Amino acid sequence: MSTPLFPRVGVIGAGTMGNGIAQVFATAGAEVLMIDANPEAGARGRATIEASLARLVKKERFTAEVAAEILGRVAVGTSIAELTDQGLVVEAVVERKDVKCAVLAELDQHMPAETILATNTSSISITELAAVTGRADRVIGMHFMNPVPIMTLVEVIRGQETSDATASAVVECSRALGKEPVEANDYPGFVSNRVLMPMINEAVFCLMEGVATREGIDTVMKLGMAHPMGPLTLADLIGLDVCLDILEVLHRGLGDDKYRPCPLLRRMVAAGRLGRKSGKGFYDYDR
Ligand code: NAD
Repeated sequence: MSTPLFPRVGVIGAGTMGNGIAQVFATAGAEVLMIDANPEAGARGRATIEASLARLVKKERFTAEVAAEILGRVAVGTSIAELTDQGLVVEAVVERKDVKCAVLAELDQHMPAETILATNTSSISITELAAVTGRADRVIGMHFMNPVPIMTLVEVIRGQETSDATASAVVECSRALGKEPVEANDYPGFVSNRVLMPMINEAVFCLMEGVATREGIDTVMKLGMAHPMGPLTLADLIGLDVCLDILEVLHRGLGDDKYRPCPLLRRMVAAGRLGRKSGKGFYDYDR
């Protein structure tokens, strides 16, 4: 497999999504520079890739030598200034518009004019993010799913000004990564989170109101609706802070109270119970 369109790729953010995105690009043959403002997060992100590749070696997907080559294609940095001529940069920093706007504006200043700037945002308007750059035709949503190395969907979202050339380059690139791209238009939450987050939020309301236990709610959705995991387990996997941020965007952007975040979700986030990544969410995890 190769990524003929983008032999060199930048990834901004080395968290849950950033390190997974870096891993799939490196696996497809790209040289990846993963930038995280927090050096510890960068090192943790690379260690996560190493552990993920080791699991794939155990499953005999490839040899230890190939895993070492893939890891060798992932470099880590702390500043956008370290990027040079990458043809594609995928931003995967926290789901906050102000932070993403600052990152995209800096990328726009620093990167060559032809570089495509993709954002992995779950819900923020691509059009509004693109507007802080001078290259709105080369800004696009490239929404990977968690865990990135396993999930095959990439939601490709065009902003108002995204060009056909940018969209088809990102669609082709997604296929070269072994993913299945689906194109969507720029409305809050796109398709995936517009449908998913109200379900998760409703599950949290059920828990808050004592409709059933956490296990009960998850089991109903697993056994009754054939979901591979229950909504509370999934929320823990996504990150409760990420879920809350997305619900706020849906609520504000669509102006409908059916998207109001459940008070219990707010309380959990305020308490630092962010799900798997913090060791505690709706369930406890052995860190
Ligand atoms: P995360 O909190 O795990 O990681 C975010 C990383 O960004 C952190 O390591 C942080 O240090 C870094 N960061 C913050 N500001 C930065 C800056 N200015 N420059 C460089 N690095 C910076 O978050 P995540 O779960 O990986 O989510 C990242 C993006 O992916 C969000 O937009 C989120 O909505 C989206 N997303 C998340 C999921 C999910 O399941 N978690 C799924 C799809 C999309």
